[in-house]
Amino acid sequence: MSYFSYKFNTDYGMFNFRSGNTKLGETINGVNIRPGFDCKNCQYCFQDCYARVSYAYYPEVKTNWNNNSQTLRAIDRANNWEVLTEPVNKFLKRKKPLYLRYLVSGDLLSQQNLFAYMQIALSNPKTNFLLFTKYYELDFSLVKFIKNLNVLISVFPLTPIEDFSHLVDRLPIAFINGDKRIKYFIGNNPEKYVCGGSCITCKKCYTEKGQPRIFNLH
Ligand code: SF4
Ligand code: SF4
Repeated sequence: MSYFSYKFNTDYGMFNFRSGNTKLGETINGVNIRPGFDCKNCQYCFQDCYARVSYAYYPEVKTNWNNNSQTLRAIDRANNWEVLTEPVNKFLKRKKPLYLRYLVSGDLLSQQNLFAYMQIALSNPKTNFLLFTKYYELDFSLVKFIKNLNVLISVFPLTPIEDFSHLVDRLPIAFINGDKRIKYFIGNNPEKYVCGGSCITCKKCYTEKGQPRIFNLH
């Protein structure tokens, strides 16, 4: 399996894309940013965050994610997301990946950031895009029109229900195994939604749009 890292230069700094890791396989990880610093509503997941482990232990990862954060925050402040969407669209049209996971680490920075990632998905209909987010305050109403983009609302057992309940009719929820609310939201047979642990063979999160998912803590 060949992994790669691809760097983009912009007027706002550099950012990079990496291909998969041992769990993700040959999917592409879109622009990752700093875990725990560039996340919304992460007070309940911060302690158990696996991305923070990679960030802490691998200097190259830390440098890349710091660079990405700096660049994307500058792009967001300038509200100039075309600086990202143009080169990424060119890159994806050339590379034609079947699967792309946005933000293995970090979260959306703004509504405009969500729109930019939606636009990239629209421009690359042959790629299946996946995004988990805890930015519950954003407007996700247009996501349902993009067939190749699956957005799941990520909640932890202590996340108050009132933080995400306005989204349950709109987007699938990603729960942590053991959350007592799974029974209420998914029903009595949640087993079929439990993550099998290897995206290399599974890919369900990419292809089964609208399905809830249940993850074991890493
Ligand atoms: S939102 Fe994701 S990346 Fe951020 S601290 Fe929580 S688990 Fe980690
Ligand atoms: S359910 Fe499948 S695609 Fe989704 S994270 Fe788990 S292994 Fe990967």
